[in-house]
Amino acid sequence: MVAISAAPDRGLVNFRSDTQTRPTREMLETALTAELGDEQGMADPTTRALEARVAELVGKEAAVFLPSGTMCNEIAIAVHCRPGDEIICGRNSHIVGYEGGGPAAISGAMMQPLDAPRGLFSAEQVSAAVRAPSRYAPRSRLLSLEQTLNMEGGVVAPAALLADCAEAARTAGLATHLDGARLMNAVVASNLPATAHAAPFDSVWIDLTKGLGCAVGAVLAGSEDFIAEAWRFKQRWGGAMRQSGVLAAMGLHALDAHVDRLADDHARAARLADRLSELPGVKHVLRGETNIVIWELADDAPSPSEVAALVQARGALIGPIGPRRLRAVTHLDVDDAALATLDGALTAVLG
Ligand SMILES: *Cc1c(COP(=O)(O)O)cnc(C)c1O
Repeated sequence: MVAISAAPDRGLVNFRSDTQTRPTREMLETALTAELGDEQGMADPTTRALEARVAELVGKEAAVFLPSGTMCNEIAIAVHCRPGDEIICGRNSHIVGYEGGGPAAISGAMMQPLDAPRGLFSAEQVSAAVRAPSRYAPRSRLLSLEQTLNMEGGVVAPAALLADCAEAARTAGLATHLDGARLMNAVVASNLPATAHAAPFDSVWIDLTKGLGCAVGAVLAGSEDFIAEAWRFKQRWGGAMRQSGVLAAMGLHALDAHVDRLADDHARAARLADRLSELPGVKHVLRGETNIVIWELADDAPSPSEVAALVQARGALIGPIGPRRLRAVTHLDVDDAALATLDGALTAVLG
């Protein structure tokens, strides 16, 4: 059997994730001329410029540059929750399955995951999940939603649904957080500004290392008070940096140059989803509106890791993500020729 290799992807087209992009030359060049200073002393002008830019983009008072999206989620949870508090969120959300149990390990928070088709639970479900105040029960404290919904196949939650759910949470006295790892994909797919998605939330962040194509970084936004508290954790956990303007400059470049082009990624993912739904080895395709395609294998198809290995042997990398599921993600570094390679490999293996 062919083994899936974790690294170097030279010579292979890499659809494993939109995190797999390499910075472009133009992007790297912005670092050469960036104005720099001591970031944790609030003296790096380029980092401050990126924070101001993202705060304005998502309609919040302030923002803070952080090393990763995971740190954005975990800091937001630490600011919003105390030990024994409960977070209401989607079952397939990143904070539940992909952050090493951070909410429990770091903040002592419990999670109450909700189920819904495509991960789109309703405001009524949120209200029903909130616990009546009681010394027996955990304190319902935070609603955490995702835009786009990664493990549901890049689904864009309608902005009105986000607002309704946030309103239900706020009415019940909960804080609200939006994991916007791929918020800019939602912006492009929905044709609505980021503020339209982010306005109902107390905290929100965007990742620079997903569709935007940067090598490092994410930006967390909220009120002045929220960001002041977030800074305490950034400092305490060792996330405060020095001349981080070399990274922030690339983030600013990405916001200028890599947002509109997300539409190309979405179009390629739609073509891939169409193709997959024609293949006999595929039972079901979870279709989002953005750059992620997840599919369930037919009962008689090989296992996801076997399929991934066979596809890799034909030049393309995809990710097994569950007992019968695979995921492919389009991004800056996969063009039409790469898609043709993947298409050919999938047709050979699952056709
Ligand atoms: C990737 C991702 C994260 C974590 O971001 P990192 O920058 O990889 O730490 C959080 N939430 C969602 C929905 C993601 O897709």
